[in-house]
Amino acid sequence: MCGIFGYVGKKNNASQITFEGLKLLEYRGYDSWGIAAKVESSKFKVQSSSSKFIVEKHIGKIGDINFNSQLSTLNSQLSIGHTRWATHGGVTVENAHPHLDCTKSIAVVHNGIIENFQELKEELSQKGHKFLSGTDTEVVPHLIEGFQKKEGFASSVKDAFNKLKGLNAIVVANAKSSEIIAAKNGSPLVVGIDKNAFIIASDLIGISDYTNRVIFLKDNQMVILGKKIKLLSLPKGNRLKENIEKINFKFEKSNKGNFEHFMIKEIYEQPGIIRNIAKNYSGKIKKLSKLMEKAKGTFFIGAGTAYNAALAGAYLFSRVSKKHINTSVASEFNYLEHFLNRESLVIALSQSGETIDVIEPLNRAKKRGSKIVGITNAVGSSIYRMADFNILLNAGTETAVASTKTYTAKLSIILLLVFSIINKLKDGKETLLKVSDEIERLLKKENLKKIKDISRSLNNSDTIYIIGRGVSYSSALEGALKIKEVSYKYCEGLAGGELKHGPIALIQKGSPCIVFAPNDETYESIISNAIEVKSRGGMIIGVSPKNSKAFDEWIKVEDLSDGTFITQIIPLQLLSYYLAIERGLDPDKPRNLAKSVTVK
Ligand code: GLU
Repeated sequence: MCGIFGYVGKKNNASQITFEGLKLLEYRGYDSWGIAAKVESSKFKVQSSSSKFIVEKHIGKIGDINFNSQLSTLNSQLSIGHTRWATHGGVTVENAHPHLDCTKSIAVVHNGIIENFQELKEELSQKGHKFLSGTDTEVVPHLIEGFQKKEGFASSVKDAFNKLKGLNAIVVANAKSSEIIAAKNGSPLVVGIDKNAFIIASDLIGISDYTNRVIFLKDNQMVILGKKIKLLSLPKGNRLKENIEKINFKFEKSNKGNFEHFMIKEIYEQPGIIRNIAKNYSGKIKKLSKLMEKAKGTFFIGAGTAYNAALAGAYLFSRVSKKHINTSVASEFNYLEHFLNRESLVIALSQSGETIDVIEPLNRAKKRGSKIVGITNAVGSSIYRMADFNILLNAGTETAVASTKTYTAKLSIILLLVFSIINKLKDGKETLLKVSDEIERLLKKENLKKIKDISRSLNNSDTIYIIGRGVSYSSALEGALKIKEVSYKYCEGLAGGELKHGPIALIQKGSPCIVFAPNDETYESIISNAIEVKSRGGMIIGVSPKNSKAFDEWIKVEDLSDGTFITQIIPLQLLSYYLAIERGLDPDKPRNLAKSVTVK
């Protein structure tokens, strides 16, 4: 769960190029960052010979920093860098990547978790290697250093990588041979082939400014980048043909425009995205609904917000099209996979298309012969490439870590699928157009005052509860996730009926409880649940088309029948955003999180 970038070529500002590349990849992890460069020559005094790396590391986000340290001024044609999301070892300068071997001529950046690092570290320490960090990563340069005593660089990297357990991607630079070698069996890596340079990065975003000729490194492959490129298979190291793909991907750098944060900008983009889905997706939706009809068992999987969308899908399919959909949190799917066979259809929901918790079970499902569908927002992502059929959200880059517009885009696709299965796609499209109009209304300035007032009052409570039933249970989960992610308030999303089985013990005078009460089959029961909370002193905030005596506060959302499950999340997106602002937090980059989750 990190951003990796590397450059080897003829330009003399490799470290600057790496810095700029890392900035684009920061959404993948932002607790610390670092760059290693081999210095060619310089008018400045260099403290090391050119066969050793110079390294610079910092704690915190790279985004706002100007790279004007000594490293940026030195001539370099070989550099690698990393923005980290710590898994092993605290967030410290020492633990930031790159990590070096004892000779300082091997530098390594890494994405993943080396599950056997403790035993490797012990062995290496006994052999005299000195460790400077608490990371799992640091075993890699030392392993390579050890192998290099008896073999060349490439086979040393190969042998070192073969010793690692877990899902990993490593990029290794050698200051002596001026080469970069990368190997992976998990997280993504893309090689860009420019006229006079090779670039390696975690995804296309880091590469598309330089070249459109790329190789997506596959699992169990290793690539050597120096004067030439060589692709090898792992574990043996057999030579492979380099299949260079031409991509027509241009990363559209998003900016905040007139908005203060990306999160609020992305909330406001939702009506346009949903309208686009209503108008332009018929062909794809019909194809996918055919696949679903043919399949004997359809599974929706996702992580975080994407899982909440999957769950909403299961409820909506059951209600509207009487079709059973299985859902699973993606990281739990491995333990349910025994039902999968050649006739199963696994539909993966993922904004980035890179979530390892989703990719891993997809790989296993593929091995069982199941068909894979990707519903993602990223062309060329790992899930996009492994899927038999793709639907792209076309929601534009989602920069804020907390998903908003890709959540409602996924719900919109699901709504069309549900209606397509019962041959009423036209009704689905019409509903979506109404959804889009209603979101526009909810976002009008005059409707924001109430939301801001409520978020101010929520700030006085340590714990917030959200309840819903049926498809609104998934809204409760998603609303609670948003509040937790950006405001750091503890918020629990619950199925209304579950309250009395335990959580109601937590309710005391003034406990805020947000209630989703749409005009559907859940209305009477959820109002009863709200009254149960109110009777124990709870403060009820209703999100509903109609007011109720049970509500202390009422946020009105129009009744759009089967479209309400999309619109009713908007007040929660806004509440969490304004709560974060109220608390002086950065809603775009919440602590401890990353946008693309590429470790288990
Ligand atoms: N496990 C490594 C660390 O904690 C890499 C984490 C990452 O993928 O960013 O440093």
